[in-house]
Amino acid sequence: MQKTKKQILSEIDDILKDRQDKSKQLAKQNKDLAYSKTDAYKYVCLCHDLIYKLGISKAKKENTKSLELELEKNKKLLVEELKKVDLKIQDLKVVPSCSECNDTGFVKNKMCKCYKKLLNEKLLENSGLSKSKLPSFKSVNFEVFNNNVLDNVKKLYSFAENYTNKENPEKTFVTICGKVGVGKTYLTECMLNEYIKQNKFVQFITSFELNNIFLNYHLANIENKKEILDYILNCDVLVIDDLGTENILKNVTVEYLYLIISERQRNKKITIITTNLNPNEISEKYDERIFSRLCDKQNCYLFNFEGSDLRLKK
Ligand SMILES: [Zn+2]
Repeated sequence: MQKTKKQILSEIDDILKDRQDKSKQLAKQNKDLAYSKTDAYKYVCLCHDLIYKLGISKAKKENTKSLELELEKNKKLLVEELKKVDLKIQDLKVVPSCSECNDTGFVKNKMCKCYKKLLNEKLLENSGLSKSKLPSFKSVNFEVFNNNVLDNVKKLYSFAENYTNKENPEKTFVTICGKVGVGKTYLTECMLNEYIKQNKFVQFITSFELNNIFLNYHLANIENKKEILDYILNCDVLVIDDLGTENILKNVTVEYLYLIISERQRNKKITIITTNLNPNEISEKYDERIFSRLCDKQNCYLFNFEGSDLRLKK
């Protein structure tokens, strides 16, 4: 079962809390060891005391030379004591794994790099793509495409890259029709990579999996229904891959597909659909309503590679 955004954020909070606990625990262990096996505690107290006195002395603008020397001497003695148990002064302090945010995840109310890294890992883990790394637009190798399709493919990739960087695209649906070989799935992975970097909650689902979810939904008790479709309806970016390869289940496939499509269009949620069908075949396999939502240029950006030879170079 996919997680909700709320669940993901709460998991990250737990990880950060755990990091904080671990570094506190480590400092405590080190202190316990040093203070029980050596005279370190004595010198820690002396140093604290001297630092306090130095502060007062400085405030009174007195000569602090002798206090400074005394502090230096005691620090050296502390270092010597700690060496006996293989520790350094630093080891007695709480050292967070991220020094920028002290493992709170935020710096001045802004997401810290460590938090973003965790979030992006979790978003990918939860995306439905069983990959630990996604391809990026920068790494697309156009040499694998035949010359007769190269212009079209380049146009599509360039559109997709611009599209993913738009804050509020005019149309939130993209339909990519075409036979095997344009790298449709690869393209959607590049897009999802960009969306994850923008901390968007993304979902990749094949039409086959989607059809099974529709069936579960259809058969579920009314009280369980909402949860089943929730993440598909509400995720920031949805990819439906290979539409048309699923079997049409009576009263299920077309009905719920239309529900998902119309709800997401109404809520202006980005949805990317790849299919081996051409627009005519979409209208035949589903119905006029779905055809109009997915192929009418008023509702979506349509890329139709029908007719071109899109095979990859061998
Ligand atoms: Zn951080």
